[in-house]
Amino acid sequence: METPLAFPALHASHAGIWMGTSKVQVQTIGKGEAAGRAAETPMVMLNAPLVAQRLGYADLSGLDLLELFAFIYPARFAVPTPKGMAKALDLTPPATDQEVPQFLLLAARKLLSVLGDAAWDQREGAWDSALALMRLRWPWANLVLAQLKKPERPERWLFSRLPEWEEAPPRTPPRVVTLQADAVQQRLASLVGGSAETRQGQRDFAQAAAEIFAPRTRKGEPHMLLAEAGTGIGKTLGYLAPASLWATAADGTVWISTFTKALQRQLVREAKRIYPDHETFKSKVVVRKGRENYLCLLNLEDALQGGFAGRAATLAHLVARWAAYSHDGDMIGGDLPGWLPTLFRRNGSTALTDRRGECIYAGCPHYKKCFIERAARSSVQAEIVIANHALMMVNAARGREEQNRPSRIIFDEGHHLFDAADSMFAAALTGQETIELRRWVIGPEGKARGRRRGLSARLADVASYDEEGGLAIEMARVAAEALPGEGWLARLAEGTPSGPIERLLATIRAMVFARDETNATESGYGLETELADPDPSVIDAAADAAIALEALTRPLTVLGQRLEAMIADPPDWLDGSARARVEGATASLSWRIDTVRAWIAMLARAVGPVDPEYVDWLAIDRFEGREMDIGMHRRWLDPMKPVAEIVLKPSHGVLATSATLRSGGDWKNAEARTGALHLDRPATHFSAMSPFDYTAQAEVLIVTDIKKGDPAALAGAYASLITASGGGVLGLFTAIRRLRSTYARIADRLARDGLPLYAQHVDPIDTGTLVDIFRDDPHASLLGTDALRDGVDVPGHSLRLVIMEQVPWPRPNILHRARRLKHGGMDYDDRMIRAKMAQAFGRLIRSADDKGHFVLLSSAVPSRLLSAFPPGTPIRRITLDEAVKSVKSGLSSDTNLRQEAGQRLEESNPI
Ligand code: SF4
Repeated sequence: METPLAFPALHASHAGIWMGTSKVQVQTIGKGEAAGRAAETPMVMLNAPLVAQRLGYADLSGLDLLELFAFIYPARFAVPTPKGMAKALDLTPPATDQEVPQFLLLAARKLLSVLGDAAWDQREGAWDSALALMRLRWPWANLVLAQLKKPERPERWLFSRLPEWEEAPPRTPPRVVTLQADAVQQRLASLVGGSAETRQGQRDFAQAAAEIFAPRTRKGEPHMLLAEAGTGIGKTLGYLAPASLWATAADGTVWISTFTKALQRQLVREAKRIYPDHETFKSKVVVRKGRENYLCLLNLEDALQGGFAGRAATLAHLVARWAAYSHDGDMIGGDLPGWLPTLFRRNGSTALTDRRGECIYAGCPHYKKCFIERAARSSVQAEIVIANHALMMVNAARGREEQNRPSRIIFDEGHHLFDAADSMFAAALTGQETIELRRWVIGPEGKARGRRRGLSARLADVASYDEEGGLAIEMARVAAEALPGEGWLARLAEGTPSGPIERLLATIRAMVFARDETNATESGYGLETELADPDPSVIDAAADAAIALEALTRPLTVLGQRLEAMIADPPDWLDGSARARVEGATASLSWRIDTVRAWIAMLARAVGPVDPEYVDWLAIDRFEGREMDIGMHRRWLDPMKPVAEIVLKPSHGVLATSATLRSGGDWKNAEARTGALHLDRPATHFSAMSPFDYTAQAEVLIVTDIKKGDPAALAGAYASLITASGGGVLGLFTAIRRLRSTYARIADRLARDGLPLYAQHVDPIDTGTLVDIFRDDPHASLLGTDALRDGVDVPGHSLRLVIMEQVPWPRPNILHRARRLKHGGMDYDDRMIRAKMAQAFGRLIRSADDKGHFVLLSSAVPSRLLSAFPPGTPIRRITLDEAVKSVKSGLSSDTNLRQEAGQRLEESNPI
């Protein structure tokens, strides 16, 4: 039975604003009137923050259909648009903006009617949850409770509903096996499927990949293969064939590491072909992410019990509904809708994960149900672990899960290894980092809320049992008071720093402002200067800061030793769970000590000689003129050095693969970017060209008449091309400022023509959801920056034109200059640019049926960079008018003509 709904509905797009009730026809209204009406009466809407943005209204509340959907169908995927909702609810989508308000009311009625449906299988827990939400004045609560039947007996609540993980015995080391070539080919054929043809390139790839599983001949010398396989080779099945064969025969685990979530999801789909039975799949394949991705049940419990207030508390209850039905508790790339936290402006969602390393392990009442612990345990027994580069690096660097150390590793999207390592092995002595450490040691100060506790509260039992340990905790607390506290940024701006670290930051700030030569002062973005010939004031402050940090390291080190002694010679009260907690504390303590030592080493550099292994600089991070962080930074000149030592050398076999592994250079470049260069046993190489017919499927158009630095011309070009293509455009920018200005100029105009435009850094929607929206609507276009250049997998008609506003020149910062100097100057830049252009072009042709244009809106494209595109791709330098005509008429079937024209133009326009 459908529920009557007496509220009006509001819809706002770039094309206008519409309002209606179930009885009254839809009216178009103005922004001011819409905002006024929304403040008086609760209105049904879809994605309130987005509607608020379209109205130009800072805060808008109402009956958000997405929140109702998240309550009724937790952990279910839906694209957060009227069309997406229609699909999820099996309704006819509205054909025009005008029809949307009536549709929203219909969708709301349909959702509310589910609550009375006996077949609704996510009922458990809904009653209690709705009651709690009513107390929080959730706008839907009364409507929901009116439809829900009170359960006859108390229902299982989240924490009793979740299954407990089982402790399993340690895995025995893998057997020594050698894979036979015909067995690999048979496995590949069975994965590809009986009727499908395996391609020669894929067969060769599988054979080459099998070699990394051969028995190792010398310790510290893994078999390493670098494989560049063009898009469409089918490399995932190509390596899954030998990997799964080896894992079963040897009873071992193969770790497959990716960079993007899109590839992780694809791998999960492909791995189902190996283990078609659902239960077997669950036991053999595990997806692993960094712990900060998962919901921490203890943080959630705290949020539900008053730790969160207002809207954040509502979010906590909707997250609790989700957690009860989630497959794995992953809040970032799992089954929590990416749009849910953004409805609450991310208010509180990060505080629900374990971002700060405050886990108390077995001391936690939810330890046996913890999502993180469950994922870590299941990977010990798995045959295939699907992880990401960041997790691989962090586990190796922090010595986590030593007993579960990967020995056979496949790095897909291997061209990103360098960047993943670069951030993992970075050190930053900044205000934000140091205040974080202060909170970890001291705990909440002043009016801070929540369950967060300092060291003394977390280790109270240790302190009362072990006098020396207790003293060390107290000394660490006193020493941590030298670190920056709340309000440090304001104190620095006012010239009243407090304590030795704030004083150091103040001198750094002054030195950066004095020496910065990036001319970024006016633009409001970051400022930096080399750590060379520092001012005497910086040298003095660095010496004082080092003394303060040493004073903190000493008690932390003593505490670590006391904890280790306690584990070695356990007291009576140290039962299994207390032991696990002490072990957990030891691990996070040693990571903190390593961090402080790295800071002290950086300070030594400020007063001493240069260390050629590192690049050091001072920076002020700013966003739109606001200072966000200040401090000293250090990166490895070559971050693959530590990776080779702690990840590659201890393993037995490693495959690094990607469609652009050589990153627009040669194998030497691939060796350097993957760390193979630092191995004693040389890596082997494999390459296979893409099977796609780029001559027939794609065309590159270089537009020669857009004046650089003319925002109106740039926006006009985007609008003309998007209109010519009828949407389906991915627009890539190298600067957020230009993206925003282009979006602001053209979004309304395009919307009136039925061509919705979305943009990263503008729309209050997470990037993953933006891509889902784009994929779902062939008329939509999406603008974005770096994350979209490599993370978008949209095969088919939804993506038929990629526009790059200009050549992606590297940012000329201090770090880039140092690496450029070491790796060949302009050649180094060219390799980086070609790699970025190849990755952007790679978004266009994802399958043998895809067709499309790649447009570069810059005449300054040197010919030497054009090898970024696959051989055979026609390239033309033309005017915007000609480009618009080409895009409008689609790819001509006469590819010869296009290619010849391209060659002629290349010859007459050498650069
Ligand atoms: S074990 Fe740690 S991460 Fe897991 S729920 Fe408890 S405190 Fe959170």
